[in-house]
Amino acid sequence: MAEEVEMDEARRRYEFKKVLEKLQSQQGDGTELITLYIPPDKQIFDVTNQLKDEYGQCANIKSKQTKTNVQSAISSILSRLKYYKRPPEKGLAVFCGTVKTYGDRTDLQCTIIEPPEPLNLYMYRCSSNFELEPLLQMLEEKYVYGLLVLDKREAYWGFLRGNRIEPVGGANSTVPGKMRKGGQSAARFGRLREIAIDEFYTKIGERASAIFLAEKDFFERFKGLLIGGPSPTKEEFEKGNYLHHEVQKRIIGLFDVAYTNEDGLAELVDSAKDALKGMTVVKEKAFMDRFLKELVKDDGLAAYGEESIRHNLEIGAVDILLLSTKLRKSRLKIRCQSCDYTAEKTVSIEAGKTMADIPLGNCPKCTAPNILEEETDIVDELTKLADMSSSKVELISDDFEEGSILFSAFGGIAAILRYRTGY
Ligand code: ZN
Repeated sequence: MAEEVEMDEARRRYEFKKVLEKLQSQQGDGTELITLYIPPDKQIFDVTNQLKDEYGQCANIKSKQTKTNVQSAISSILSRLKYYKRPPEKGLAVFCGTVKTYGDRTDLQCTIIEPPEPLNLYMYRCSSNFELEPLLQMLEEKYVYGLLVLDKREAYWGFLRGNRIEPVGGANSTVPGKMRKGGQSAARFGRLREIAIDEFYTKIGERASAIFLAEKDFFERFKGLLIGGPSPTKEEFEKGNYLHHEVQKRIIGLFDVAYTNEDGLAELVDSAKDALKGMTVVKEKAFMDRFLKELVKDDGLAAYGEESIRHNLEIGAVDILLLSTKLRKSRLKIRCQSCDYTAEKTVSIEAGKTMADIPLGNCPKCTAPNILEEETDIVDELTKLADMSSSKVELISDDFEEGSILFSAFGGIAAILRYRTGY
């Protein structure tokens, strides 16, 4: 069950990323593309009032064409907002305007997105492109890691969000140095020092745990904790179970760092780079390793390439379908505009291109032009085929070597089979 949820999550991210890429590639003539971000606590009424106001302000726009286009976009947004009494749970992002399509043509397009994470800003902007940064950030900041650096004198903790380090706070100890004052017995001094260290570790454990556990959706999003410091301090701290057990069991590793103040956090992330890379792709890498192992066997269960995979899916021979998240292809159903000829074909949709850029050719039977009946993203289409024979589907990112090989060497489409077939 957990695995299924995770797969849906990967799927949602893939879909979300694709929509953003498409919006990113769109351009308007002049400043006529509208970006509108509505946070969950904003009144729709206030938004429509502002839009009506902006509509009026368009009178000041000098270019007649820009004025018309901006007004059409605002009207289009207003008519869509009518369906909302209030913003959805996580807010609403609206991208609307006259975008350039194939050649000199233009088209008024409106995209409404309910973001995967709550929007925390209100924005209305008119520009020659769409403002996507707040949504792109959501792609990056899906997971969060806890950071903790410590020695016997000080400690500091914070978060790693995407590539951004967020320092939170720290603590200093009252642990006496190793030199004892005259008159104190060595044993008594040693014992007091042990107690002070234990107290300091306890304080770090409690305070850092409280910060980590307070992170929104801790159980879903908190991927793990990195601990840095000199040896054997960090090892002692880990063995002593000073952290809350939910945090303790998420420790990813211990790393040597020289600084244990705020600067130590960056040093820690740097030392842990390889471990972090492995974490995000560990599951995907396991699938790719299995595929590559099967591939080199004489009677292996690996298959790849769109044609081969289609055959294997049709006869129900696919156990696990591996699809690269870099795939940007569509499956087209086309038909002749005058006779009964129909066909399917796969085309690449490169960044900035739309369906209007794809030539559909002519009918081989009567030479009349073909027309498009249906366009489906290839990941959706192959996933549907896989579902019919209960094959599992794994989306594989290209953030690691084997993942990028799936795209570059195998066309982004591969499978581990249930049994060997002739395809
Ligand atoms: Zn025809």
